[in-house]
Amino acid sequence: MRALVLHGFGDTTIEEVPDPVPGPDEVVIDVACVQPSVTECMLIAGDPVAMHDVLTARLAAGPTRFGGHEFAGTISATGSGVAGATVAGGAAGSGLTVGARVTAVETAACGTCAACRRDRPDACRSPGVLGFTRPGAFAERVAVPAKSVVAVPDGVTASQAAAGGALHGHAIAEVRPGDTVLILGAGVMGVLHTQVARHGGAGQIIVTGRSPAKRRLALRAGADLVVDAAGDVLAAVLDATDGIGADVVFETAGGMPSAGLAGTSTLDLAARCVRRGGRIVMVAVLPRHASAPLGLLRERSVALLHPRSGAGGYSPSAGAFEQALRLVRRGDVDVDCLVTHRLDGIDALPKALDITRDKAAHGAAGPAQVTVGAWDAA
Ligand SMILES: [Zn+2]
Repeated sequence: MRALVLHGFGDTTIEEVPDPVPGPDEVVIDVACVQPSVTECMLIAGDPVAMHDVLTARLAAGPTRFGGHEFAGTISATGSGVAGATVAGGAAGSGLTVGARVTAVETAACGTCAACRRDRPDACRSPGVLGFTRPGAFAERVAVPAKSVVAVPDGVTASQAAAGGALHGHAIAEVRPGDTVLILGAGVMGVLHTQVARHGGAGQIIVTGRSPAKRRLALRAGADLVVDAAGDVLAAVLDATDGIGADVVFETAGGMPSAGLAGTSTLDLAARCVRRGGRIVMVAVLPRHASAPLGLLRERSVALLHPRSGAGGYSPSAGAFEQALRLVRRGDVDVDCLVTHRLDGIDALPKALDITRDKAAHGAAGPAQVTVGAWDAA
């Protein structure tokens, strides 16, 4: 089969590699659709985020397979221990059978380390990470642990399934009915959080965005008020909240300016726009030693929360994944509006990386998706 191979930072090729063979507790999935995550694009480019040091060491040893965890496809082979196993999200009686349409959770705890034995799989010492510790879905086929597989419901397309996994960060915010929610950034994460907040009973939803097109997207996604990110966001938020500030702020705009993101000033803005005792969820992926207004957060008793996923952390559980796909199927969350660039064939993967790494320069709302293989739409 063919797959993406990384020869050095920013140096990718599509090459012939051995077909994956399923281990006893694994399945092989024929990839129908895959999209790069922004973090993957940054890591491939050599930006110093998340697992950069590990990747540097890997590349020093030679070319390596890297990336590909947001994907969907159909099971084409099952390992000897998989027969009859059920699949998360599957209908009653469904299983890990050849032809089943599925996606997979990115991270799997090892099950045997000290943390796993103490029933803390989220602190696993050596988790398997799709596209990182094991070859991912930047390929025509990918082998994944059976326990990581999540069924894609009928009526959800491959591209929707690949994008729908991005919703889990909302859970830790515990948005209560009536809470005022401020979302900094109207990119993919901003728009998804807007939709989830709308369906979760949030009160007023305020979204900032740099371009008129993004602000229109946020309005369509359910924002009550959109604010030009270049304007006086603090004044607009205070005006809209009787001077109190937002109960919850999702910071989705910050990150490496080289990737078209807003640096670290947005965290400072979040700290000033949140109400006393409020909560900030750091969705954005920042460099390790990015500065933070810690004194201000302490002074105002603001909780700074981090999703337990992304940036080298843990991926959403199968349960969070299932819920995301349910929201897509029900129409509560529209992910199609975020897919502006669909490319055809695995040879287009390097181009998809370029587009996703700098979406603004390419006029893309979300990651570029690549159709790799067949998907029989229900
Ligand atoms: Zn473990």
